[in-house]
Amino acid sequence: MKIVIAMLKHETNTFSPLPTPLESLGPHGAPLRGDEAYDHFKGTRIPMGAFIDLAEEIGAEIVIPIAARTAPSGPVAQSAFEAVTEVICDSVAEGCDALFLDLHGAMVTDDFEDGEGELLERIRVAAPNVPIGVGLDFHANMSERMVRNCDVAVGYKTYPHMDMYEAGRRAGELLLDMIAGKISPRMSFANCPVMPNILRMATDEAPMDEIMARATALESERVLAVSVFPGFPLADTAHTRFSVLAVTDNAQDQGERICRDVLDLAWQRRDGFIYELTPFSEGVSCAKSLKDGPIILLDMADNCNSGGTLDSMSLIREALDQGLENILAGPIYDPEAVATLVEAGVGSQITLPVGGKFDLDAIEKRGEPLSLTGRIKTISDGKFVVQGPVFTGMQVDLGRTVALDTGAMQIVVCEGRVEPLDLNMFRFVGIEPLDKRYIILKSKVQYRPTFGAAAKHVIECNAVGVGSADFSQFPYKAVARPIFPLDQDAVYPSAGR
Ligand SMILES: [Zn+2]
Repeated sequence: MKIVIAMLKHETNTFSPLPTPLESLGPHGAPLRGDEAYDHFKGTRIPMGAFIDLAEEIGAEIVIPIAARTAPSGPVAQSAFEAVTEVICDSVAEGCDALFLDLHGAMVTDDFEDGEGELLERIRVAAPNVPIGVGLDFHANMSERMVRNCDVAVGYKTYPHMDMYEAGRRAGELLLDMIAGKISPRMSFANCPVMPNILRMATDEAPMDEIMARATALESERVLAVSVFPGFPLADTAHTRFSVLAVTDNAQDQGERICRDVLDLAWQRRDGFIYELTPFSEGVSCAKSLKDGPIILLDMADNCNSGGTLDSMSLIREALDQGLENILAGPIYDPEAVATLVEAGVGSQITLPVGGKFDLDAIEKRGEPLSLTGRIKTISDGKFVVQGPVFTGMQVDLGRTVALDTGAMQIVVCEGRVEPLDLNMFRFVGIEPLDKRYIILKSKVQYRPTFGAAAKHVIECNAVGVGSADFSQFPYKAVARPIFPLDQDAVYPSAGR
């Protein structure tokens, strides 16, 4: 058996000023191919890792034509999408018994607001008889077109994402069972006009805990996988909304009832998806009044895993202005500052502007660098391995990375954009994060199993950034209206059901 395994994974923030060219879709200026992709993803706890394991367990020949991904940013350049899609289509068309795809589900390109739908349809046209199994992110904005053009799709069930491997593995196993004639998968799909705030999507809290429990309870011998997708609200597309996908063993009607059951519950709990905002200066004042550290100040609006530029200095500026001390902040994406710092060298005292290099046109904010004076503590090549418990074993490359000590704060500045997802992210430049009183992290929910588990307090601050939790800042144009909570007159069940 020959199995093609490929990845085109991007969560697109259509409000982000960051471009997404082909060069950004891999660690060394290009998407990974063949053996290099195998070596990079073998053993990782994501769908790619699961697909490789599964194919090896059945003794299949594995072909990895391409694995393209990057942190969330603006729409994928059309030329990049075309290039990656062509490689996947050509590889599948050459002949194979199955295709395993590791996708996100909220990708937008310059020309297509449903990037995955376009990709899957082209693959179907190129090789109509090849079975396709897809692993998807929990934040997918699912479309009918995606569902129509694959055989089996399974999404993560957790946020923070702890089951990426399991979801990919499930998709792969179901596809293999289909090929073996053991099951006849049918996919049922439905959505409802709700756009939850990302901050209200954690699966161990209300309302998602109850919704996920309901979805999981509905799985059975014939109901093979029920995936819930609250969606990614920072991708402004016509299909950005809450959806449910049920894969059944030839039980389409039952699958449709299940989708409606879960969506009814989501609609009933919709008030729980609203995030109450407070001014971030109040968050900093509150942090100042607390006794025990580490205290995490969560710079949510500039979370790069929501498409943030990772260089907004507004919360850091506020923390310094209010006199906080023993702060750790970062990483900040600023290749220009890194070049200056590297040239100055370890031990040098330096004053330079840090961050604020991007204007945020979509939310009408100018980039504002922060002038910092400090001593350069460490310079590193930026490579480290994630200790976990999430993304365990994954190699991360931040590019050249510098730790600057300003007295009140140690700040990490780098050439790459990666969410602070692991304690090693600071340890590798000689900083012990848990010794700090304050940790300013550009994250929303993903920090919880690592930094969150070790923190005494966490204060959510919605400062300036295109990952903002404040929907009212964004000029939505494509989202199908009415939708809750943008429109209080949104209704569900929708007409015609
Ligand atoms: Zn996600």
